[in-house]
Amino acid sequence: MLDVGFFRRWMTATAASVDREAQRLTDLDSPIGDADHGSNLQRGFNSVRATLEKEAPATPGAVLVLAGRQLISTVGGASGPLYGSLLRKTGKELGDAAEVTQEQLAQALRAGVDAVMALGGASPGDKTMIDALVPAVDALSESFAAAKAAADEGAVATTPLQARKGRASYLGERSIGHQDPGATSSALLIGALVEAAGE
Ligand code: ADP
Ligand code: MG
Ligand code: MG
Repeated sequence: MLDVGFFRRWMTATAASVDREAQRLTDLDSPIGDADHGSNLQRGFNSVRATLEKEAPATPGAVLVLAGRQLISTVGGASGPLYGSLLRKTGKELGDAAEVTQEQLAQALRAGVDAVMALGGASPGDKTMIDALVPAVDALSESFAAAKAAADEGAVATTPLQARKGRASYLGERSIGHQDPGATSSALLIGALVEAAGE
């Protein structure tokens, strides 16, 4: 079972991972964006980490709802509302349970990813964070490690795609040949599940 401690570790491990990879995320956002993805997420997840320390939410769902709210209010740019909706919706799906199973997390995260698609209008193959999140959710029932591998693969597989959503889509065919920054940060978020589980 996954308790509130697991969800706190998931968020703090994501914050640490975003700190480590911020420059890379910004570099990926340079050729096909506005070179701010690393700093956007660093600001957002640092705020998540600080708020979790101050407020100490009591349940898994409350941790994610709080994290989502922080991302929405601190990240300027497309990724803030999108990641914010992902975590808020996932948290709401978990309700006020003190502990959840891995399968319950997988189902809740699927609802979260659906909310991101509804908000941003992206489908798989549009070269966005969705291309890492959908395969990750599909693999999550198997294991956290399988979800991480699927997200990493999904992020790499965005390289040959032409962007159809977000800033990168303004470049048309020139977006081809670059890995999507948001798919890359989604792989960090999913990878942090493995760390939170201590696997
Ligand atoms: P901005 O483009 O506003 O500067 P960021 O650089 O923080 O925002 O985030 C860019 C990332 O957000 C993209 O790489 C992409 O993965 C994701 N993204 C942008 N628009 C959408 C959308 N409509 N649906 C899903 N993901 C999106
Ligand atoms: Mg950007
Ligand atoms: Mg921007």
